[in-house]
Amino acid sequence: MSIWAVLVAAGRGERLGGDRPKAFVRLGQLPLLAEPLRRLDECEALDGVVVVAPEGWEEPAILLAEEIGASKVTACVTGGETRTDSVRAGVAEVPVDAEVIVVHDAARPLLPPDVVPRLLEALGEGFDGAVPGVALADTVKRASDGVVAETLPRSELVTVQTPQAFQAGALRSALERPDDGLVPATDCASLVEANGGRVRVVAGDERLLKVTTPADLERVNAWL
Ligand code: C5P
Repeated sequence: MSIWAVLVAAGRGERLGGDRPKAFVRLGQLPLLAEPLRRLDECEALDGVVVVAPEGWEEPAILLAEEIGASKVTACVTGGETRTDSVRAGVAEVPVDAEVIVVHDAARPLLPPDVVPRLLEALGEGFDGAVPGVALADTVKRASDGVVAETLPRSELVTVQTPQAFQAGALRSALERPDDGLVPATDCASLVEANGGRVRVVAGDERLLKVTTPADLERVNAWL
């Protein structure tokens, strides 16, 4: 079975500040992108990796992959305006015979080695997609103009991370559907769900924290 990863790293990362895109801020000795790249490259189940970089940063991304010896990287493409556009650009570079596509946010650098195997096991059970989820500690309410409209049942809720794994056909067909233009999709699973796909939630991991603020970067740095 052929399994490919798309690493999306084309976000601007404005909340992090700084003079460069988030994927190229320092984490340890190297740009942040090096960490998820190395971890995907070391993931035995994966046959190849496509990197999606911000415009103008494609060359540095390829050079970084070479520098760390990430030999599974076959292509680096330019990202788009939204995350979904970037995923679309990356998936277009995945060979047509790939059976499974794993999409991961570069902004979650610390990919533990057991997460991808857990996702693949769920796909083996016949699901169209699988995502890592973490139960919530807080109560969640839907509010409108500062007034509570609804309190959601916490036991049914999970926060969802990446990597997310999909049967390649299910992801490709979900990406072909035009965006409804109302609420931008914040993950790939929501596109697959909207297209009728069944998505399994497997155990997530707090180390998959998404780097958004300088404090997140410090936390991830401490966990390195
Ligand atoms: O900002 P957001 O939470 O959507 O970012 C999640 C991931 O998607 C990050 O790794 C970011 O680099 C990537 N992204 C992208 N292209 C965009 C927006 C985000 O590749 N246009």
